[in-house]
Amino acid sequence: MRIADYIRDIQDFPKEGVGFKDITPLLNDHAAMMEATKQLLALVGDKKVDRVVGMESRGYFFATLLAEKLGAGFVPVRKPGKLPFDTISQEYSLEYGTDILEMHVDAIKPGEKVLIHDDVLATGGTAEAVCKLVERLGGEIVQVNFLMELSFLHGRDKLAQYEVKSLMSY
Ligand code: AMP
Repeated sequence: MRIADYIRDIQDFPKEGVGFKDITPLLNDHAAMMEATKQLLALVGDKKVDRVVGMESRGYFFATLLAEKLGAGFVPVRKPGKLPFDTISQEYSLEYGTDILEMHVDAIKPGEKVLIHDDVLATGGTAEAVCKLVERLGGEIVQVNFLMELSFLHGRDKLAQYEVKSLMSY
């Protein structure tokens, strides 16, 4: 089974010029979803993981599945104003302007081993901001993984100090 067969390209979504990688066919198919989870777990190997951090919102699906398989807790990162408890915020740059991501202050304890997951690595700004949030709480990042990376956007350059893995590269 090829995971790539379950990724759908949607041209000009959500705006003109963007080739959107739609993972819903992968989520729709139980066997494909389990195979992708198995392959992501293989990327992690035998590393100890206390917390899996997922990015709103498409990072949540596999981050949660990975947390379950790894015997780890799940931590959601959200857009501003969505998390109900005390948060820390991290600003990051977009193509035009900036955005903010937030995490609960008690989501990670100092010294905990953290796996970060998202569906797509594009410019790397999102993942870099999440790495900063994790490190500000004292977490130790053991890997940052993705279903796929858009290698022509060089997102890895922003994550050079971390172990970065992905199942597919475009
Ligand atoms: P970036 O911060 O540029 O690396 O963008 C990564 C975030 O935007 C991830 O949370 C992705 O879900 C989303 N994203 C960026 N580009 C795409 C794309 N072409 N298809 C689907 N999601 C994308």
